[in-house]
Amino acid sequence: MKPLVSVGALGGTIAMTTTETGAVTPALDAEDLLAPVPGLDALAEVTSRSLANLPSPSILPSHILAALDYAKEMVDGGAAGVVLTHGTDTLEETAYFLDLLWDREEPIVLTGAMRGANLPGADGPANLLAAIATAIDPAVRGMGTLVVLDDTIHLARLVSKTHSTAVSAFQSPGWGPIGRIVEGRVRLMYKPATTFPALPVPGPHEIQIPVIQSPLGDEGRWAYGLALTNPHALVIEASGVGHLSMRTADACEQLVTDGLLVAMVTRTGSGSTTEHSYAYPGSEEDLIARGIIPGGFLTGRKLRILLHILTSAGMDREEIISEVHRRGQ
Ligand code: ASP
Repeated sequence: MKPLVSVGALGGTIAMTTTETGAVTPALDAEDLLAPVPGLDALAEVTSRSLANLPSPSILPSHILAALDYAKEMVDGGAAGVVLTHGTDTLEETAYFLDLLWDREEPIVLTGAMRGANLPGADGPANLLAAIATAIDPAVRGMGTLVVLDDTIHLARLVSKTHSTAVSAFQSPGWGPIGRIVEGRVRLMYKPATTFPALPVPGPHEIQIPVIQSPLGDEGRWAYGLALTNPHALVIEASGVGHLSMRTADACEQLVTDGLLVAMVTRTGSGSTTEHSYAYPGSEEDLIARGIIPGGFLTGRKLRILLHILTSAGMDREEIISEVHRRGQ
């Protein structure tokens, strides 16, 4: 018997075709996406559903929660895994959002495309086939949410879109993919050393957590300004291993004293924040002592998703710090 796999379509370039200007726009539904995928019949029994058809910067928590419900319904109905198609721009955020909430052994695999469906060398069908092959492979059971593009398999918590146009845009900076698709089959090289229990599912409300970068010459004004919008937390992309200017450090300390959750990540795009490598005003050791929460290996946009789910669950500051510590390392 062939394994059952369910494909939920959310939109993105994979579902776009060209307009008269040559630019692409949403056009295809879930069934259209599956039609040009070669060899599907031999691989799996596939069901599909169109969940949305949006460019991914417009995906909201409500769409992600609808995709989560769809995935649960499909797995409870016997699917070996679920594939979600999604725009590549924010795919890593939806993948991590789902990863934090997913409580089943069967994988959710996100994929998309860098080239529109009717452009030369369209990568959508190959990515979809690779994602389906991954979703049904027993080797990835229990690994949560994965991202498959360009024949590489990535963990949701590590993957980033690292190039604006390349077909090989998806990388796990500093770590690499955990596996590859070769001759249509999954070849898994690594398994995550740690997996985490699912977090409580938040409501479909807005994510009120801004992410700002702290570049040369930043003196903390923006952090103060954003605090006036009553965010649930603030994420700062700090330099190096978690460094801010002395003035920005003072601003952040004031915000922490005022009761705001302020967290930081490295803006370098790879590696983690540290805890005791540097000791000077604005260093990571100093910032942590002042109550700023280090995000470890998470990018700013992923730490934002984690903080959204933790604050939505009503956790207190100490619980949030310990979850960020666990999940960021
Ligand atoms: N460039 C995007 C994509 O690859 C557009 C989007 O994210 O929806 O799908």
